[in-house]
Amino acid sequence: MAAGVMPPVSGVVLKVVAPCNLDCRYCYVYNGHDTRWRDRPAVIDEAMARQVVARLARHCDAWPGHRIGICLHGGEPLMLGRRRFRRLVETIREGMGDRLATLNVQTNAVLLDRAWAELLGELNVSLGISLDGPAEIHDAERVDHRGRGSQLRTVAGLRHALDAGLDVSVLCVVKPGAPGGDVYRFLRSLDVRHIDFLLPDVPHDDWPARFGHLPPAAAADYLIDVAEAWLAEDDTGVFIRFLSDVFGLVLGGSPRTDAFGGGPMSYVVIETDGAILANDALRSCAQGLDETGLNVAAHDIDALLGAPPLIRDLIGGAIPPAAACRSCPELATCGGGYMPHRYSRARGFDNPSVWCADIRKLFAYARERLAAQTPLAAE
Ligand code: SF4
Repeated sequence: MAAGVMPPVSGVVLKVVAPCNLDCRYCYVYNGHDTRWRDRPAVIDEAMARQVVARLARHCDAWPGHRIGICLHGGEPLMLGRRRFRRLVETIREGMGDRLATLNVQTNAVLLDRAWAELLGELNVSLGISLDGPAEIHDAERVDHRGRGSQLRTVAGLRHALDAGLDVSVLCVVKPGAPGGDVYRFLRSLDVRHIDFLLPDVPHDDWPARFGHLPPAAAADYLIDVAEAWLAEDDTGVFIRFLSDVFGLVLGGSPRTDAFGGGPMSYVVIETDGAILANDALRSCAQGLDETGLNVAAHDIDALLGAPPLIRDLIGGAIPPAAACRSCPELATCGGGYMPHRYSRARGFDNPSVWCADIRKLFAYARERLAAQTPLAAE
């Protein structure tokens, strides 16, 4: 890709399994507006895996020194089975060589037993586990296909991973209205040290039905409660990426994720059939919004330059802030919001984030908290 037009792809979410053993109520893949997963192969086959790796390696070679991080994802990636998983990882490591920046797997951990933990350790694959907190919070959304909560099984998987000494990060979806501090203390009681919080992916069209009954800025209140519990514990070995971004942004730093707006999307998606898609959270908005029309079977990653203009602008971070954001004093910090949170059927991406009030409250909180800390830091 030509420099200055679109940055090279630095992250790939590789869908190695299409279905999932859970049926989370908020899942944008299975319970959103998009049904294409039904038409994909259930698992990625070896020939397709080799093709994906060849395309990614070629993309890196076009940018001397460029490396790509790969996240193995689904559906539920551990449904691949250990034998296939091992072969897939070997294919990736052999084909990418030192072009591979990171390799991790994002799982609900329901299938993660001691044998899986040992394999992941042996293969040096780092681990993201989706866990929303105590059972009463996690099980309200994260249920299996029989409607049963999954928290106990996920926690058991997490314990296997921690016992094996794996590098584990917990991915926790914010539940507005819930006590975030309790979620933090629960995760810390399990000795989790790396946590990321995600605001729920929801477009404007669906937000009122899901969250309109809550007090204003309830997601911010949850996250402020997390932040207070985190600061009270005062353990520098505990890292919360979302909150680190909030504090860093008000100090003039750059975000480490695309959870806020204003930059390129941090990854593209490659499906089990080789289809190249933009950020899959766009599926929460409308069917096909992430469609590039490209497939690694026929196209290089650089062919994204010829993708539809909307896709190019989404990936390249070239969609301007919404008109309503341009005079906002937080525009430099917020960047206008995460793209899937800006979407409505009527106005496309010309909206502030559905979490605008929460974002403003969080930044205001971070400034106040930092100001309160200044005398301590100067002592
Ligand atoms: S805080 Fe709200 S209005 Fe301001 S830039 Fe962000 S989304 Fe736009």
